[in-house]
Amino acid sequence: MKVHHLNCATFRPPLVAGGLVAHCLLIETDQGLVLVDTGFGTNEVTNPKATIDGLSRKLLRPALDITETAISHVEKRGYTADDVKHILLTHLDLDHAGGLRDFPKATVHVLDTELEAATNARSTKERARYPKAQRDGVKFETHKAEGEDWFGFQAVRNIAGLPEEVLMVPLIGHTRGHTGIAVKSDDGWLLHAGDAYFYRGEVETPPSNIFALKLTAKQTETIREQRLSNVERLRELKASGEAEVFCAHDPVELARLA
Ligand SMILES: [Zn+2]
Repeated sequence: MKVHHLNCATFRPPLVAGGLVAHCLLIETDQGLVLVDTGFGTNEVTNPKATIDGLSRKLLRPALDITETAISHVEKRGYTADDVKHILLTHLDLDHAGGLRDFPKATVHVLDTELEAATNARSTKERARYPKAQRDGVKFETHKAEGEDWFGFQAVRNIAGLPEEVLMVPLIGHTRGHTGIAVKSDDGWLLHAGDAYFYRGEVETPPSNIFALKLTAKQTETIREQRLSNVERLRELKASGEAEVFCAHDPVELARLA
């Protein structure tokens, strides 16, 4: 399958040299187009004050460039919004689910625990990360975080309507229902690890990190032990060479793959 690596939002948070991206995938399949994550969409870019809370605007400092939206990337390649049949989300944080409303015909796949967290938040902090308006009118299909083995990880396979080579690989921790998305591209397996980590050095051997992103990971985590153990497993997977592992926000990883 042909996989395009897209940047669907740029952020310039303080103390992060080089900024951050919203690394999304556009997959061309026999059954239509599939997106993995949607970054910020038309609503966020054209009306940020109504769609992005003040704290997030201050911390993320988004560029708000309409040409970076997923719909803009899709149209640039000669397709329309209706050609996108499925969207898989690593999780429902506002910088990953912003573009959903730009694709009204798509079925949106998430883990059941993630939709539950978004609709029945257990704390003010949890409520703030999932703006309800982003999910208005969206057709969700939820999946249980269980399945067959994939390089030592559990994987949700055979998702109706999707090719067999597109899997959800649960990576719980950043949020209650956070998942990676694995795709077998023409060049081998890719694993989009979402926000399971924020800095490329975390999955290198030996690992490294930068202060601002270590802090970000900690401040946005929901289940610490699971998050940390997943980073370790991802480091092992990367070292094995079985899959190309990358996260949602590292600009160097995106540049390497785009
Ligand atoms: Zn994120």
